[in-house]
Amino acid sequence: MTKIVNHWIGGKSVEGASGTYGPVTDPATGAVTTNVAFATVDEVDAAVAAAKDAYATWGKASLAKRSTILFKFRALLDANRDAIAELITAEHGKVHSDALGEVARGLEIVELACGITVQLKGELSTEVASRVDVSSIRQPLGVVAGITPFNFPAMVPMWMFPIAIACGNTFVLKPSEKDPSTAIKLAELLAEAGLPDGVFNVVNGDKVAVDRLLEHPDVKAISFVGSTPIARYIHTTASANGKRVQALGGAKNHMLVLPDADLDAAADAAVSAAYGSAGERCMAISAVVAVGAIGDELVDKIRERAEKIKIGPGNDPTSEMGPLITKAHRDKVASYVTGAAAEGAEVVLDGSAYRVDGLEDGHWIGISLLDKVPTTAKAYQDEIFGPVLTVLRVDTYEEGLALINASPFGNGTAIFTRDGGAARRFQLEVEAGMVGVNVPIPVPVGYHSFGGWKDSLFGDHHIYGNDGTHFYTRGKVVTTRWPDPADGPSGVDLGFPRNH
Ligand code: NAD
Repeated sequence: MTKIVNHWIGGKSVEGASGTYGPVTDPATGAVTTNVAFATVDEVDAAVAAAKDAYATWGKASLAKRSTILFKFRALLDANRDAIAELITAEHGKVHSDALGEVARGLEIVELACGITVQLKGELSTEVASRVDVSSIRQPLGVVAGITPFNFPAMVPMWMFPIAIACGNTFVLKPSEKDPSTAIKLAELLAEAGLPDGVFNVVNGDKVAVDRLLEHPDVKAISFVGSTPIARYIHTTASANGKRVQALGGAKNHMLVLPDADLDAAADAAVSAAYGSAGERCMAISAVVAVGAIGDELVDKIRERAEKIKIGPGNDPTSEMGPLITKAHRDKVASYVTGAAAEGAEVVLDGSAYRVDGLEDGHWIGISLLDKVPTTAKAYQDEIFGPVLTVLRVDTYEEGLALINASPFGNGTAIFTRDGGAARRFQLEVEAGMVGVNVPIPVPVGYHSFGGWKDSLFGDHHIYGNDGTHFYTRGKVVTTRWPDPADGPSGVDLGFPRNH
């Protein structure tokens, strides 16, 4: 029987009123397993109204109360790691161990939010002028919303809501319509942890729901993670509507391999970072830039490793890579490989026609490796978001750096070298928000913020870490004087106040 996924509003499951549903498929079989309700404008309004009501008390709840609930949520998440990972695999397709990894990285942010008491400590300066003290505090914004992509249905929402609610905001999440069940599970666990009704709400759906959140007068801030064209649209629209907005977009992450690098370690890293989660990661390495004469040896080492990757259903413990999210996406990824030779690339591995026996309707694709890819090729220019690794050849560090910096994207990047001086130069000269030195996927830990440059992020704040706390709060500065009789009588003074 097909499962139904509803909304979560005011602390309970709410059936979709419009009768409009979208299909959710199991990517391993291609079968529709679930129908997800698509919210109308009225349903989004109901979720925002529930969040606004809840804000009246949650915004004033003590820090102790907020962090106690988050500690309970952390324990429930920990106990439910497997159950959440199974939901992710069933709708996203990634292998169970990878799904567990995303839950672990989300949990890191919950742990950060448990300690919000430290991050929200204000500042006080005493005696800035005679008997005058100044304090800086940060206060919540009100109702805030998150719009998230399909590729991390647990982790990306947890980049947002734990910090938002720890700061005293209430939250409306619009998860991806392609794998919506995880968000509802997180809502249930938050309720079990004792979160008051309405503090966390989920509206499922598509552009209708998103557009209503972008224009709703009671929504004060929008956090978005997804593809670049939609991130740009979200940033423009939400900004025009007077909202604070952070919109993280797509990527094309380069790995620069210098001639002195440990080539076995570099090949291991390239294969893990390019093909993990079938390349459906915003931090996946999709372009290796080989410097100097090492290119042939590096490509051989990558090919040897990539050929051995075991592809199969995510719930089979022997699988290392699962299927892609939809049939349409599978076909699009395959087209980059089938068109690569005509664009001047050497096709070393072609996985475009790969199928898994007995699961012919699954969204399967194999491993592809393209060498000597010109920068004019679509396979280089576009974010493919699939298991296709492109290799580009350059003669010098400078040429490699210029190539990376010419990319419109600037999410993550990595350098592989044994030369500390070159690594240091790269850290300072490369135009990207996250840099790995002999680390292929430099996703920052929870207490440092995550974010890209250029077309990979629109807005002023990166996500989680200190930037997260700043994004979900606004500053207030209080200047106080308690006069003393010894000061004598007050008097009128039309001059601009000066400190003395
Ligand atoms: P997407 O942009 O298609 O969708 C993201 C969200 O936006 C979903 O909730 C979707 O329902 C909504 N949406 C889609 N089209 C819309 C429209 N026209 N108007 C309003 N809302 C719309 O992204 P996706 O395919 O779900 O996710 C993959 C993309 O996300 C990749 O480009 C990947 O790089 C990016 N991503 C980026 C990061 C990051 O941190 N920078 C992290 C994860 C994923």
